[in-house]
Amino acid sequence: MSIASILSEVFGYQAFRGPQQAIIEHVTGGGDALVLMPTGGGKSLCYQIPAIARQAAGNGITVVISPLIALMHDQVGALHEAGVKAEFLNSTLSFEQASQVERRLMQGDITLLYAAPERVTTPRFLAQLDSLQERGLLSLFAIDEAHCVSQWGHDFRPEYRALTVLHERYPTVPRIALTATADALTRADIIERLQLQDARLFISSFDRPNIRYTIVEKREATQQLLRFIQDEHMGDAGVVYCQSRKKVEDTAELLCDHGIAALPYHAGLAPQVRQANQDRFLRSEGIVMVATIAFGMGIDKPDVRFVAHLDMPKNIEGYYQETGRAGRDGLPADAWMCYGLQDVVNQRRMIDESPAEEEFKQGLRGKLDALLGLAEATDCRRVRLLRYFDEASTDCGNCDNCLHAPEVWDATDAARKLLSTVYRVQQMSGFGFGAGHIVDILRGKVTEKVTQRRHDTLSTFGIGADLSETQWRAVLRQLLAIGAVAVDAQAFNTLALTEVSRAVLKGEVPIRLRTSAPKAATRKSRRTSQVATPKVAAVLDGAEQQRYAALKAWRAEVAKEHNLPAYVIFHDATLVAIAQSAPRSRLALQGISGLGVRKLEAYGDAVLEVIEASCTP
Ligand code: ADP
Ligand code: ZN
Repeated sequence: MSIASILSEVFGYQAFRGPQQAIIEHVTGGGDALVLMPTGGGKSLCYQIPAIARQAAGNGITVVISPLIALMHDQVGALHEAGVKAEFLNSTLSFEQASQVERRLMQGDITLLYAAPERVTTPRFLAQLDSLQERGLLSLFAIDEAHCVSQWGHDFRPEYRALTVLHERYPTVPRIALTATADALTRADIIERLQLQDARLFISSFDRPNIRYTIVEKREATQQLLRFIQDEHMGDAGVVYCQSRKKVEDTAELLCDHGIAALPYHAGLAPQVRQANQDRFLRSEGIVMVATIAFGMGIDKPDVRFVAHLDMPKNIEGYYQETGRAGRDGLPADAWMCYGLQDVVNQRRMIDESPAEEEFKQGLRGKLDALLGLAEATDCRRVRLLRYFDEASTDCGNCDNCLHAPEVWDATDAARKLLSTVYRVQQMSGFGFGAGHIVDILRGKVTEKVTQRRHDTLSTFGIGADLSETQWRAVLRQLLAIGAVAVDAQAFNTLALTEVSRAVLKGEVPIRLRTSAPKAATRKSRRTSQVATPKVAAVLDGAEQQRYAALKAWRAEVAKEHNLPAYVIFHDATLVAIAQSAPRSRLALQGISGLGVRKLEAYGDAVLEVIEASCTP
C-alpha cells in the first residue's frame, strides 16, 4: 500500500501536512529520524503510516515508546476506530489481557504496540523483541515525547536514558524520535542521549498562528482569570496552570462558584480521581481543567480553546509546550498568562536553592531569562517565541502587543533611583532590606522601620514620591528580570546589587516599561474581527445547525458505547462538513476529511440515517 493511499483510506485525509510526506517516506524507507514539530502539527501520522506501510511489506511490528500510560487506551482506541491493529502493554491490563497481547505480539499479529520506556527495557520484553528480530518481525521503534530523555527538557524521565539499548541491541531497526518542543540545547542533548547522530533531522515551523498570545500584569490573578474566561470563553474547554496544589484546588473552586465547570488535577490527588477528572475533561464538552504541570502531556483533545497560566512557568519550552495544547484543531485559541513580581522572585529562588551544580543552574537561569524577556516584551510576542526556537518571523498581528501597541514610559531614571537606594541602605545599615521597605523609602513613607533605621536621612528618601507603589514594583520586576538586582533568599528576601547593576546605575541600560495593562474593552475585538469565531458551529445556518446537533448527539452515544472521547470517533470539523453537505448516499460521504474506509463502513449508514432524520421535518 502506498503511503498516499494509507493517508486517504485509513485516516481519511486528502493531503499531507507540512513535512509529513518527507518524514514518512524517509522512515518507511528504513531511515532514522528526529522530528521536531509543534503540538498539533501531526506527529502521530509520521510513525503510524510508516508502521502500517512496513507491516504491509512484511517487516513486522512497530514499537511505540510513550510515557503516557493514562492515555494509551485512547490512543490505541483511535487506531482501532481507523481499523489499525494496535495494542498497548501497561499496568492497567489484567494478567489475562497482557498475556493475550503478548501472544499476538509473538505471532507478529500487531501493527503498532504502545509501551512505556520502563517496560520496554525489561529483560523479559527485550527477550521478546530478540525473538521478533530473529524472525525479521521487528520493523521500527518510534520514541514519542523524546525530550523526556533530556534533563534540559521540562519533563525529564530517567527511564528514557535506558532506551539507548534499542540502538545497541537492534542496530538495523530504524528509529524515529519525536518531540513538540526542543530548543538548541535540548535538541543536542536528545541526539546525544539517544545516539541519533546519523538520523535525519526534520524541523517544522513552530508557529501556531491560530493561538493568540497575551501576557498581562498580575494584580488579583484569580479575578483577572475569572474575567478573562467570562469575557471570552464561557462554555469553552480550557486548561489553567497553577504552580501549587493548593492554588489548583482554590482556583477550581472559585471557578465552580461562578458557574464554570472546572476540575482540579495535581499529583496529590488519588490516581483514580486524577484519571476520572482527565476522562471527564476529554469526554465531556466545555470542562476547564485547573492543573499543575503534572497535567497535559499527550492530551490530544483538539478543541481546547484556551490555556491560561496563573503562575509563570520555568522557561519558554515549558510555556510553549503548555500553551500549544490550545487550538489543535486550527481554530482560534488563546494563550493567556498573568505575570508579576512574585513570579520572578519565586523562579529565581527555586533555581538558587536547588541542590544542582552551579553550571546546571546557570543553564536554568539562561532559560528563565529568555522567558522573562518574553513577559516584559513590548514588541511582538510571537517573533520572540519563534526566535527562541531559531526561527525568524515578522510581527504576527495576533498577539497582545501587535493588537494594541503598549504605551511605554522611560523608567531609566527611576531604575537608577531604586538601585542607588538599595546601595545606600546597605552601606548605612550594613545589610540589605526587602522590596517593601525600599519602595517606602523611595516614596518617602515614614514607617516605624524607616524611623528606627534612620532611613529618612538618606538622600534618596522621598525622591520617588511621583510614582505609585505599583509603578515601583514594575520597575523592580523589570530590574529583576534583567538581573540588575537580586533577591537574597538566604537573608530574608533582601535586595542586593549585581554585576549588571553598575551599567543601569550609570544610565547605560535603557529601561522601558508599559504604562498600563491593555484595557479590557479592547480585548473584545475578536468577536467582530474577521478571524473565524472559535465556536465551529457558528459558521452553520439554521438547517445545518440542526443536523450538526443531531450528529453530535449520535456521536456522543457511540463514544460512550466505545468508551472513547467523542473526537476519536469524529472531529467536530468532520461533523461540520457532514452537516454542511447533507449527504444522502455513501458516495456523497466519501471524500469528507476524517472519513477513512473503516469509519465509512462502520458509521456510514448511521450517519446517513441521522442526516435523513434531521432533514425530514
Ligand atoms: P501532534 O502529535 O503533533 O501534537 P497529532 O498527531 O495529534 O499532533 O495531530 C493533530 C491533529 O491533526 C490530529 O487530530 C490529526 O488527526 C490531524 N492531522 C494530522 N495530520 C493530518 C493531515 N495530513 N490532514 C488532516 N489532519 C491531520
Ligand atoms: Zn505579534
